[in-house]
Amino acid sequence: SKWVYTFGDGKAEGRADMKNLLGGKGANLAEMSNIGIPVPAGFTITTEVCTYYYANGNQYPAELMDQVRTALADVEGIMGAKFGDAGNPLLVSVRSGARASMPGMMDTVLNLGLNDQTVEGLIAQSGDARFAYDSYRRFIQMYSDVVLEIDHHHFEDLLEDLKADRGYNLDTELGADDWKELVGKYKAKVAEQLGRPFPEDPTEQMWGAVGAVFGSWMNQRAITYRRLHDIPESWGTAVNVQAMVFGNMGDDCATGVAFTRDPSTGENTFYGEYLVNAQGEDVVAGIRTPQHLTIEGKTRNESDLPAMEEVMPGLFAELDAIRHRLEAHYKDMQDMEFTIQGGKLWMLQTRNGKRTSAASLKIAVDMANEGLIDKKEAIMRIDPMQLDQLLHPTLDPKAPRDVIASGLPASPGAASGKVVFSAEDAEDWAKRGEKVILARIETSPEDIGGMHVAQGIITTRGGMTSHAAVVARGMGRPCVAGAGMIRINYAEKLFTISGLTIKEGDVVTLDGSTGQIMRGEVPTIQPELTGDFAALMEWADAGRRLKVRTNAETPLDAQTARKFGAEGIGLCRTEHMFFDPLRIIHMRQMIVAQDEAGRRAALEKLLPYQRQDFIDLFSIMQGLPVTIRLLDPPLHEFLPHTQDEMQEVANAAGVELKTIRTLVATLSESNPMLGHRGCRLGISYPEIYEMQALAIFQAAVQVSQASGQTVVPEVMIPLIGTRKELDLLKAVVDKAAAQVFTETGTTLSYAVGTMIELPRAALRAAEIAESAEFFSFGTNDLTQTTLGMSRDDSGPFLETYRLRGIYEKDPFATIDRDGVGELVRIAAERGRSTRAGIKMGICGEHGGDPASIAFCEEIGLDYVSCSPYRVPIARLAAAQAAI
Ligand code: ADP
Ligand code: MG
Ligand code: MG
Repeated sequence: SKWVYTFGDGKAEGRADMKNLLGGKGANLAEMSNIGIPVPAGFTITTEVCTYYYANGNQYPAELMDQVRTALADVEGIMGAKFGDAGNPLLVSVRSGARASMPGMMDTVLNLGLNDQTVEGLIAQSGDARFAYDSYRRFIQMYSDVVLEIDHHHFEDLLEDLKADRGYNLDTELGADDWKELVGKYKAKVAEQLGRPFPEDPTEQMWGAVGAVFGSWMNQRAITYRRLHDIPESWGTAVNVQAMVFGNMGDDCATGVAFTRDPSTGENTFYGEYLVNAQGEDVVAGIRTPQHLTIEGKTRNESDLPAMEEVMPGLFAELDAIRHRLEAHYKDMQDMEFTIQGGKLWMLQTRNGKRTSAASLKIAVDMANEGLIDKKEAIMRIDPMQLDQLLHPTLDPKAPRDVIASGLPASPGAASGKVVFSAEDAEDWAKRGEKVILARIETSPEDIGGMHVAQGIITTRGGMTSHAAVVARGMGRPCVAGAGMIRINYAEKLFTISGLTIKEGDVVTLDGSTGQIMRGEVPTIQPELTGDFAALMEWADAGRRLKVRTNAETPLDAQTARKFGAEGIGLCRTEHMFFDPLRIIHMRQMIVAQDEAGRRAALEKLLPYQRQDFIDLFSIMQGLPVTIRLLDPPLHEFLPHTQDEMQEVANAAGVELKTIRTLVATLSESNPMLGHRGCRLGISYPEIYEMQALAIFQAAVQVSQASGQTVVPEVMIPLIGTRKELDLLKAVVDKAAAQVFTETGTTLSYAVGTMIELPRAALRAAEIAESAEFFSFGTNDLTQTTLGMSRDDSGPFLETYRLRGIYEKDPFATIDRDGVGELVRIAAERGRSTRAGIKMGICGEHGGDPASIAFCEEIGLDYVSCSPYRVPIARLAAAQAAI
């Protein structure tokens, strides 16, 4: 079989759509080469080799050696140089490349192929001994660090010693002889650390680096990253071996990174950074301050350094042309790496660029408006969960801010939290429920776990393309990078800014959109939902079939949900309305009452409150359907707990404290979730449901009379298992409705339905639908009762279950299609069999989960209902499910 694919000189064996085989980097290098964009020649060792390697006890396929030799000969032919040749050596880079870009994989090794002989050839090629020896020592350091696992500080120490010896301050003061001497010292250090000499044979060097790439697929950083991003281990990584081009051979050389559009805002401007006379990682390493590509970018950031557009106008124009070609070709924003050697531009990488949620939205909408993609494609481009970031608060511009530092606005959004100084601490604190801000000099792939749990990230070094910035944008964490005035002291766990000290645990706020860092917590405001957001939502609404309602019981939630486009209330949980201190006392009085008369007396006091609740909701929902669930939780939850609470109830009821105490003891349940709750309360105490129904219909009549709007109450009976339960309680509701209609002389249409949240109800849906006018799938309880797992207690073992692959996803977050889903499917079918067109929706947590929404679309439910902030997510997910 074929294990190796070559590229270069305007052709390639691979293509962009071969990412699975060639990895992202390799597939795109091949594609660029195919469409005539200048790419240094090279070859890709496929991901199948990686898979083979791990399946066969770390052995390569037998044909690999030969195929690599042949591919290398091709590269030598194209580049006119020979690998390992002392007179005219070909040098290569060895680069890892998985299907999805993956920090945590082996770092790139540059200048591979150098040794004491070939360095002479490099001097001959470049006419520059200083450059050649500088490249050589870089190679030894990189190779030792990455492949031989010798810590780079050894080499940094040797360099510092030499500089101190010679009285130099800067690296630039070192001459050819100095670098040459350092190469000798580096090699001696390797021999000392390794117990054998640095490998001089270029072929051995290459296989060492290739092996290190495959080895890094299984390192801890890579494993963690895959776990966080759901990347299967079976994918494997590819290895790219590519001819070196040098951005550090003089002032007509440069290297840089560029985005075809601004990855922070999404604006259609050319965005990027570069350095003259520099190599590869220099741009992202934060050692020298990179320069902007465009005059516009430079002006915007008030930079004094000249832009590439000014320094190398011809090459800039070439790069800008490639920017447009690549974007037109890939039809998405590209993130590119380039190097200029001796006035010639080479592209080293292109890929779909990581971007903030705001940028992602703007780019999709702009590209659809530009005609580059269609509206459906624009809808599909946005990860619904990403919208979340756009819906969340930003800093209140009017709130006072105690700005203590500023850095680069690396990833937008505002966040407050307690400062911690290591990824490990961040994880520990977050586990305790603390909100933390992770402050680091710079971040590295080891820190991703801590970055993930942090509210926001601060670094004191590095630019917009530094590790922290790129990863934070990908994760949607606000980030301020390169806040240079901050001095972090890891040992003492504090940072200082000219005299001011912030210690571990102190609260700070950061604004990743402006780069500001503030002391204390700064209040936030709601985002604007106009512009690109509104446009995309409009396209999504046009494309979806499922309606989107909200779960809301407070006016604030209902208003928020309306603003986000909710088309009604799918679940109003009335119990939340009884915990108010003014009301709970009546509720408790009702519970402890000796007889129906006592209960009615207490309920009468609750009725006006309850009526006002519904008046508010009906008014806000302006004629949209409102589903109200009658009292559901165990009586248990309303019981007085403390001595004071019991005394208060005793006083109000005019009984002795010990009577209450006995009652509380009798009413306490050992498993309330399966106890005296839901419709069982209504069966025991019909007067509770009667009061609620009266309040609903009185409110409905009042609002419709006052506003002239039709009010559509949908009364929902919770936790039924049998049709009989529903029939008994439906009679109570109907009687209350009739009473209100007679008293007010106004009749309204309304519906009485039920939640389907017990397996028995799902199975008996056919007969239940003869009475129920609608079904609402309460998939929280249905998941608990189907899996026999308590949502509140399953956290600890569910994590293990997920890791062991027993349940792939948390079944409380994403519907368990095979089990719970099957019951929902059965209930839907059986319900429709006796009541054609019965209205059905879902109101569990799953109603806001894109994967579960796709399931609801598949089985033809009428609506999903979710928490207010999930409404836009659900609208988009519903559209995606329908496409
Ligand atoms: P990463 O995936 O971490 O970005 P890359 O493989 O893209 O790693 O390599 C990092 C940097 O090394 C590149 O941005 C580029 O500047 C430099 N580099 C890689 N290969 C070459 C090459 N053949 N010639 C010159 N520079 C290279
Ligand atoms: Mg790269
Ligand atoms: Mg329930």
